[in-house]
Amino acid sequence: MPEGPEIRRAADEVGVALVGRKTTVVEFAFQHLRRFEGRLRGRRVVGVESRGKAILTRFDNGWVIYSHNQLYGRWFVGAADASPTTGRQLRLAIRNRRGSALLYSASEIDVLRAEALEAHPFLARMGPDLLTDRPGVEGVLERLEAPEYRGRMLAGLLLDQGFVAGLGNYLRAEILTRARLHPALKPAQCNRRELRRLARAIVELTERSYRTGGIVNPPSLVKKLEAQGLQTREQHRFNTYGRAGEACHFCGAEIECSNAGGRKMYFCPGCQPSR
Ligand SMILES: [Zn+2]
Repeated sequence: MPEGPEIRRAADEVGVALVGRKTTVVEFAFQHLRRFEGRLRGRRVVGVESRGKAILTRFDNGWVIYSHNQLYGRWFVGAADASPTTGRQLRLAIRNRRGSALLYSASEIDVLRAEALEAHPFLARMGPDLLTDRPGVEGVLERLEAPEYRGRMLAGLLLDQGFVAGLGNYLRAEILTRARLHPALKPAQCNRRELRRLARAIVELTERSYRTGGIVNPPSLVKKLEAQGLQTREQHRFNTYGRAGEACHFCGAEIECSNAGGRKMYFCPGCQPSR
């Protein structure tokens, strides 16, 4: 499942195709949304942004298309008349004279007024987006110390989009390893220095993954691994996620994997000892 950095890159790509241009076609597959087509056609797109795993496409007349990719949704960006050959269901087509952005397979699409966004059931529950709202290290630290989050286990807290939006399974694993904190710890059990380290890892690893297209390991380590023959992205992008039984690049211990709530949770017992 794509995480914040992947969604943000998709939003950037859709933005390049749409922002600043007037639409020539806006088509919805869902019957109940078709009444909006006329209101969005011939209007200028003024912004495309990500909020957690959702994308907001804003129009110059105050209407916004909300789309959530869920597991399978995917945007295709192409020529104005593009019609890719795919087995996927086309859910939303936005075209202008220069290009098009086509959303396939996503099942959650909504059209709403900009002023009603904060009341949207999904967005209302969402914490600050790490790449759009950019709470920064201080903002994340403040939330880690807040009464509603202090008593929560880090493993669950980091995936809670109400805490901060944009983290998923791979970022959780890499962030906790870099912060050297066991997933079962709670913020209340960590000292100020550890919480600051965690806040920094949350911000930095998310931003790095966005910049690099999903390579979370530090550039110096990536270089070293490449020199050792681990050339492909899949071989050097992660230290912890998906590497159960392999050696941690930082300490040499064997990465472990546990099954928490049906989702695999990877951690390094060397970097992240339990207390
Ligand atoms: Zn380690």
